[in-house]
Amino acid sequence: MKIVYVDNNATTKVDPEVLEEMLPYFSEFYGNPSSMHSFGGETGKKIKEAREKVAGLIHAQPEEIIFTSCGTESDNTAILSALKTNPGKKHIITSRVEHPAVKNLCKNLSENGYRVTFVPVDEKGRLDLDMLLGSVTDDTAIVSIMWANNETGVVFPIEEIAENLAEKKVIFHTDAVQAVGKIHIDLSKTKIDMLALSGHKLHAPKGVGALYVRKGTRFSPFLNGGHQEKGRRGGTENVASIVGLGKACELARTYIEKENTEVSALRDKLERELLKKIPLSIVNGETINRLPGTTNISFEYIEGEAILLMMNELGICASSGSACTSGSLEPSHVLRAMGVPYTAAHGSIRFSLGRYNTESDVDYIIDKLPPIIQKLREMSPFWQNRDRK
Ligand code: PLP
Repeated sequence: MKIVYVDNNATTKVDPEVLEEMLPYFSEFYGNPSSMHSFGGETGKKIKEAREKVAGLIHAQPEEIIFTSCGTESDNTAILSALKTNPGKKHIITSRVEHPAVKNLCKNLSENGYRVTFVPVDEKGRLDLDMLLGSVTDDTAIVSIMWANNETGVVFPIEEIAENLAEKKVIFHTDAVQAVGKIHIDLSKTKIDMLALSGHKLHAPKGVGALYVRKGTRFSPFLNGGHQEKGRRGGTENVASIVGLGKACELARTYIEKENTEVSALRDKLERELLKKIPLSIVNGETINRLPGTTNISFEYIEGEAILLMMNELGICASSGSACTSGSLEPSHVLRAMGVPYTAAHGSIRFSLGRYNTESDVDYIIDKLPPIIQKLREMSPFWQNRDRK
């Protein structure tokens, strides 16, 4: 069956060049980078090279990069480090639309002695900047705001926020897991203190990530152990995956142009044609400051899960904006924060395109999806009763 993969915000295919670069580090060069012998030193050299490549993509210094096991670990490390190095401060600021990697940690902290401000967004998914900046107090230990939203693709004005927070001398962390490799990031020009990224969102393998910690930022490790990562993250390095992340970052520098021209053009075509062919379909989130490959569309009066299942039968892989939690279908916290009406939030689908998508993928979805929506609506009591008050 033809597979049309448009779920790149969930995870991406490992680039063949990344895989090729990784393979020798499973078999040929398996030494421990901390060993004194030169066999281990070979892997140490390769980690150094990977660190330079990751730093290169975001215009950081290599020593500002700490390798981790994933984006979630990077996010947790950043926030917990800020709290540990500011023991007197008990206030955290984040947004209402963060990924669970930040949202659930903050929720947990709010139940354990910390006060958390969850800054709202408007109906287009845009952050309330005045409220964010107005919430900062002397008690604020950290502000953590995502660079780009994983569900809608909406990009927040992170450089502007960083600038404002630097004046207030508050630690600023950004979850840039969805942004890195898709939009230009130049940390040499911003005042961001910490930034999280994840390998599997940019064509490296799952289970590897990195945390950028700006030189001079006070830091406390999350994993205490050996002296790896200069004592900032204990645990023997996942050498092959780190090598893969380095290669993926090197490649991302060459592909970022394509993301912002070809991938965004494919996304625009998909969005335009679906909106044209399917009545009562709405794009969730603003369409100006948005990741190049993402569109989140609500097809009113039907369930996203049903759409996904029917698309799945035809080999189309996407995501829905609702999650089946404890038996009840709850719309996503992101769409709820945006105030998307119930009838639309339930039928939302996220299409996230990447560099492997083609025009024929997009044409396939444009051809197959409208009849699916029509069929589901014919079966939907909500659709049949939509005009009744
Ligand atoms: N932050 C965002 C915005 C994400 O989209 C994701 C993954 O979906 C994460 C954090 C977590 O990354 P990882 O899967 O590497 O833990």
